[in-house]
Amino acid sequence: MSKIWKIAIVVALVAAVVIVIIHKHMGSLPGTDAEKGAAQVSPPAAGLPRLVDLGSTTCIPCKMMAPILEGLKEEYAGRLQVEFIDVMVTPDAAGPYKISLIPTQVFFDASGKERFRHEGFFSKEDILAKWKELGVDLSAGAPAATGPTFNRLEPAKADNRPKDTVCYLCDGDIDLKTLVVVKSAKGDVRLCGPHCYFILYSCLTEDKTDFEKKVSVTDWADGQRVPLAEAVYLYGAEEKTGRPTIKAFAAREAAEKERPASGGNVLAWNVLQEKELAARCGFCDRAVYPQDAAAVKVDGASTWGCCSHCALGVAARTGKDIEVHQPDRLTGEMIVVKTASGRVASLEPKTAVAWFGLRKAPDGKFVSAGCFHQGFFVNEENLVKWVEQNPTASGKAIAIAQALADKMKLSPQQIQKACKIGECAPK
Ligand SMILES: [Zn+2]
Ligand SMILES: [Zn+2]
Repeated sequence: MSKIWKIAIVVALVAAVVIVIIHKHMGSLPGTDAEKGAAQVSPPAAGLPRLVDLGSTTCIPCKMMAPILEGLKEEYAGRLQVEFIDVMVTPDAAGPYKISLIPTQVFFDASGKERFRHEGFFSKEDILAKWKELGVDLSAGAPAATGPTFNRLEPAKADNRPKDTVCYLCDGDIDLKTLVVVKSAKGDVRLCGPHCYFILYSCLTEDKTDFEKKVSVTDWADGQRVPLAEAVYLYGAEEKTGRPTIKAFAAREAAEKERPASGGNVLAWNVLQEKELAARCGFCDRAVYPQDAAAVKVDGASTWGCCSHCALGVAARTGKDIEVHQPDRLTGEMIVVKTASGRVASLEPKTAVAWFGLRKAPDGKFVSAGCFHQGFFVNEENLVKWVEQNPTASGKAIAIAQALADKMKLSPQQIQKACKIGECAPK
């Protein structure tokens, strides 16, 4: 007997066994076929083409399908719905498909209409070729290849605020009651308050010995400048968020006088510094307030991302799988990203996108606008609304998978320098 005939007989026997098994498991279900017509087979596929594989965990060709299905699921996430139905475990779910042997793959288009079915093992190449033949374009809307399209590289409105009224670090307006001034070789650096000072301090690359001697804060009561280390600080918290509030005073009596109105405790500057530097960004080491930061879980431990993109960077810095919780900048709705081996494993909601804040450098090239200008949104519409509300913002929408990929590309040396003051020239 020729080899081909031998194979054919074996295949026929295997098929026969499988058919018998299916009939044993599914044929005994009363009314399965009669009650469930073919129309019920195709639940709405959320606008996505759908591949349903019916098999079991015991048959050999079924087992060979498993890694192919997993691969398709990951590679075409958001573009193709891949489903596996174990006919032995859930014969009810398999019944409506009226298959006669396993494995069987059923192809549904985006409208839920069955277009093709195949019996037996089906390779990844053959599956992709079949979709193509059916006219289903799986590259459409590919998050990594195309992703969100919105961008605004030129701000809608120029930022015409006088330079000395803008915080060097966060670009926020400076309140003269909380102004902090750092003396530098290039002139005075003006900051909106003590917290921005501590962020700056946490990401300095220069020698920090006696750095506090270059810094003065503003007395909340009388507006006089006071050396940083000589002031006392009324340290309170915002009622709704618990975000710290800091007011500086030259005299302890003045701080005590303000205390009934502000609440909080009067702290010496070194105690304040300890508190301010306690929570740090897990990617760039900047001081953060948890209330402003993305929460990041690594190996069951918690850290922070000072911005959404830094949060993803924790995966690059630690080399571990992480989970990021970051609120939408417009609505506060939570976005959850889980990574696996440096790639996005899951995204909630699936429509979430990142805003990559950019600004034009003097040489005309676009560079990151810094941590205060990044963010996540639950969808591109929210992002566009937020950009409209912030006329001086410039940048582009990118897929969160892209933001992660950008971080994963960085070398350990680049990660060490990330977000550091002194690595890029002051504005
Ligand atoms: Zn600031
Ligand atoms: Zn950071």
